[in-house]
Amino acid sequence: MGSLKKIALILLLIFLLPAIFFSAYEISSLSQDEEVINQIYQNQLDAILYSANQYSDDVLNGWISKIQLGLEESKGTDTIPGKINQLLMLNPALTMIFIGDTLSQEESSIIFSLEDSLTGPGIAQELSGLLKEENRKINQLIVYQRSGFQKVEPLSFRIPRIKDFIILVFILEDHFKEKYVCGLVIEPNLFIEELLGPRLQVIAKDQFVLSAYKKDNDNPIYLTSTNNSISFNSVALTKDFWLLPDYYLGISTMGNSIQDLVNERTSTNLVLILVLDAVLILGVWLVFANVKREVQLAQNKSDFVSNVSHEIRTPLALIGMFAETLELGRVKSEKKKQEYYSIIHKETNRLTGIVNRILNFSRMEANKKILKIEPVDLDDTIREVLSTYEFHLQNKGFTYELRTNLESKVYADQQALVEVIVNLMDNAIKYSPTKKHIEIMTGRQNNYGFLVVKDHGVGISKHDQKHVFDKFYRVSSGDLAKSKGTGLGLSLVKEIMENHQGKIDLKSEPGKGSSFYLYFPISNVKERAYA
Ligand code: ADP
Repeated sequence: MGSLKKIALILLLIFLLPAIFFSAYEISSLSQDEEVINQIYQNQLDAILYSANQYSDDVLNGWISKIQLGLEESKGTDTIPGKINQLLMLNPALTMIFIGDTLSQEESSIIFSLEDSLTGPGIAQELSGLLKEENRKINQLIVYQRSGFQKVEPLSFRIPRIKDFIILVFILEDHFKEKYVCGLVIEPNLFIEELLGPRLQVIAKDQFVLSAYKKDNDNPIYLTSTNNSISFNSVALTKDFWLLPDYYLGISTMGNSIQDLVNERTSTNLVLILVLDAVLILGVWLVFANVKREVQLAQNKSDFVSNVSHEIRTPLALIGMFAETLELGRVKSEKKKQEYYSIIHKETNRLTGIVNRILNFSRMEANKKILKIEPVDLDDTIREVLSTYEFHLQNKGFTYELRTNLESKVYADQQALVEVIVNLMDNAIKYSPTKKHIEIMTGRQNNYGFLVVKDHGVGISKHDQKHVFDKFYRVSSGDLAKSKGTGLGLSLVKEIMENHQGKIDLKSEPGKGSSFYLYFPISNVKERAYA
């Protein structure tokens, strides 16, 4: 089986190894691709949220420059300057603006608001208290301002009566280089809905849903899509609002998110790779199984040629030798002559037997053997075969036992039936070197009449039992190989049984013997010719 191993190795190297390497590479690169795509996607989402934050900064800077102008206007007056009034009127989210003295850290001097309830008594005091609490933050803002950077900071402390409002502070400087702490009191929900909302809608278009949340609440306070029929995925990324410390922004995708698509693609690719591998393995296995069968057949055929040559050579040599002796007139006694004639006759019969078997096989192979199937008495046939075979059996030192229990006829071709029985008897004799006893039984099972030929010979191993009916197959181990044969007998028996729509069965144990069961149909089988 050296050549089979070579073929297996070649198949493995040419097909399976590349497939395994390719699959491993594809699977590892799939997860890498997924990571890269995911990263790009996250960056994109990040950039969208960044632009929303950037926009609120821009809004705020617009307000700051208006307040700067208003501050110039308001010098020495108690009324709300036009610019600031306009700012408050146009932006309901901006509920109050206050301006305090940074140096004295006294009460905030100017408070602008359209709502009297907010500007009522005591508010100035509360605001300046707050600024004192946040003293360090204010001083830090002044340092920033000096170096030319106007930073806006939310205050962490709150005034109880406007506790839901957010206070943003920054430093302003007037013409005289005098610095003021300036504060914006903002209602965050309104800021998000009215100012940021339209901008978020523009950013989101139809591809995303942008949302805003308060940190302690999972329900969004704002969504760019109010259409309930549109389903969108869970929030893919969140970012803090730069200006509103208690709030964050979220982004989700409409329909299938890129992540979903990537996941879906990855699993489809994975399944495809696995299916492909499975098909490849199956293909390689099929090719290998076929090659194995062909190699086995070729091996059997070559064994067959040498077996047949060997089988033919011995009788031919004997015939040649005795014929020559007779021809030369060297044999004088009549008794000796008779003995030589009978040897020539016996060997000729043996040769005829071999040739007939080969011819029968090749006819059966070419589907040319015509079977004449008709009701046949199996019991009678077996008795007839045994009566002509008895002498041969005794000669070989065999005893036999016949038990016939089948009362009905079977459908069979008489000639083929005899051939099958002879084949089995021949084998029983050939493969019973020590315990020379053969049992033959007939009987009925369901719609079949059966015949068993049982010997107590060498038996057949489980592995060989699978192959003994193969063409040219011979058990090649031990003493068996020495016994003569062509490996055609049992394959012929099997073929004949199939053509009878019958069955063949084998029970055997190495060292104990074998039983061959032949089943012929009893029920009505149409007479047919195999042509
Ligand atoms: P062969 O010409 O070799 O006998 P067969 O096709 O009749 O060819 O049998 C195939 C093989 O099956 C034989 O080589 C033999 O090893 C095994 N075999 C057949 N009949 C018997 C039996 N009765 N007992 C043991 N082995 C058997």
